Amino acid sequence: MPTEIDLDTATTRLTGVARRTPVLRSRLLDEALGAEIHLKAEHLQHTGAFKFRGAFNAIAALEHDVRERGILTYSSGNHAQAVARAAQIFQVPATVVMPNDAPTSKRQATESYGATIVTYDRYTEQREGVARAILAARPLTLIPPFDHPDVIAGQSTCARELFEDSGPLDQLIVSVGGGGLISGSALAAHRVNPKCRIVGVEPETGNDVQLSLQQGRIVEIDVPDTIADGQQTTSPGQHTFAVMQQHVDEIVTVSDDQILDAVDYLFRFQKQVVEPSGACGLAAILASKVKLTGSRVGVIISGGNISPERFSELMKPRWQT
Ligand SMILES: *Cc1c(COP(=O)(O)O)cnc(C)c1O
Repeated sequence: MPTEIDLDTATTRLTGVARRTPVLRSRLLDEALGAEIHLKAEHLQHTGAFKFRGAFNAIAALEHDVRERGILTYSSGNHAQAVARAAQIFQVPATVVMPNDAPTSKRQATESYGATIVTYDRYTEQREGVARAILAARPLTLIPPFDHPDVIAGQSTCARELFEDSGPLDQLIVSVGGGGLISGSALAAHRVNPKCRIVGVEPETGNDVQLSLQQGRIVEIDVPDTIADGQQTTSPGQHTFAVMQQHVDEIVTVSDDQILDAVDYLFRFQKQVVEPSGACGLAAILASKVKLTGSRVGVIISGGNISPERFSELMKPRWQT
């Protein structure tokens, strides 16, 4: 588990590097929900998601010689772009293992930061196996998407900023995939307000963390079918599970349709373009999945990477009258 020193070190490393993203407020939203809602606009972070924080911190933590030899990761989404950009800042090579059917836009974004992409067939090969084979042949360091103390410490800086800017909050609501963001958020929040309620939000079909916390052991599920592609994880990690067992109060789930309500709300009323996983936290409160009355609530809008084609495909059915 990251220590308080690890969290402070991550803050120092990321100051002036990560964007201090704004906190969005809405009087109408507060009135509708009977609570004070503070939306941390992390879709405006470098590379379009909070993942830049964890990736940069984990790469910064490496010994100089180790970092110079290069970084390896596996992800088709926001973590790939985050690692590619962070490695570019350090001027070290990055290799990203991605399925051969990953969306072209994600591939191009990762390549645009100078990373080398190695593809595999996700129906016949395991990405961990592909990564292991590369590590056996080349002296690269693997930076996983969530299950790493320095990744968790990096993600903690987002909630830390939110508490600095908005004051101590009573509840914090966070999208959950493998649990890196919520683990870091909870550690940061509980340093300021040990009573802050930490609520995680998963897509209905991908509730691996909810099941794991209920059963007190790491539960593995099949790859979930959901529009929330930042949360298609199949199980929490060892590190994230340990932190979540201690620090997370509740995991709630939302349907794809409820997620789209939140994406729609953010576009219409906040003028923000957010990807489905980025809107999960807000989806949970709009769908009354969390008791809010009278509380001061932080919600992390975790990412905004969505292509215009995908955005219009998802929104068109609801915007046609
Ligand atoms: C990765 C990601 C998540 C989930 O984060 P974890 O650290 O895996 O729990 C949520 N939202 C977005 C936009 C993401 O990219």
